[in-house]
Amino acid sequence: MTNSIVSINRLCFSYPDGTTALHELSANINSGESVAIIGANGAGKSTLLLHLNGCLLPASGDIRIGEIEISPKSLTDIRSKVGMVFQNPDDQLFMPTVFEDVAFGPQNQGLTQEEVKARTEKALIEVDALSLQDKPPYRLSGGEKRRVAIATVLSMSPDILVLDEPSTGLDALGRRQLISLLKELDHTLILATHDLEMVLELCERVIVLHQGRITADGLTVEIFQNLELLKHTHLEQPSSLRDCQRCRKNGVQS
Ligand code: ADP
Repeated sequence: MTNSIVSINRLCFSYPDGTTALHELSANINSGESVAIIGANGAGKSTLLLHLNGCLLPASGDIRIGEIEISPKSLTDIRSKVGMVFQNPDDQLFMPTVFEDVAFGPQNQGLTQEEVKARTEKALIEVDALSLQDKPPYRLSGGEKRRVAIATVLSMSPDILVLDEPSTGLDALGRRQLISLLKELDHTLILATHDLEMVLELCERVIVLHQGRITADGLTVEIFQNLELLKHTHLEQPSSLRDCQRCRKNGVQS
């Protein structure tokens, strides 16, 4: 028995062209944790995320969400528990208005019209986008699109929120709003990102992928101090940590 909300057990995956993207990954994530999956380009981050809601299925090994193993038979159940926010919001927004996009998921869960409306409005309020509800998604700014894409997932009341590169393409304000929004949510959060400053703010734990394997899994603050590990996995220490260390070295209070 385990209390983990996500259990990944010896997960292996290769693409049809023969590229082996994931080698024997194992990790457990507990309910309420915020975990970042980090690694250089091609390390396997997106491939791993796509396994978490069954967009890809393991070649070998298995993944459980709570007690349910991800398999073709459990996909409906899994997708009501794991909300996936794709890297490009345009892949998530396809209806004529923001409201219809956010209502799409709950509508397909067989809820009544009143329940759909209530869920949709609640999700739009959570991402501070209720005033955008009648707009066509293609008229939104990058930051607004990202928040609405998150609402399309929140409206289905998932337990786990999975985000692929959520800060990509956002300006400073959009990024700051996104970080504040994600801090407010009490979901289990799993995000893949190159934005290590955002990881420092949001995630107490990181899993480092390198060439399809887990090279480290631990506390963010400890992993970000391990310069040898960062170098080996082609990652750079966040500049705020570097600056902090420089200040301490020079006797300046930060
Ligand atoms: P990351 O998200 O860390 O950049 P990916 O999961 O996208 O890494 O890629 C992991 C590996 O799988 C890389 O070697 C990449 O070239 C390969 N890969 C990704 N998508 C495909 C695909 N559709 N077909 C073949 N190989 C792929």
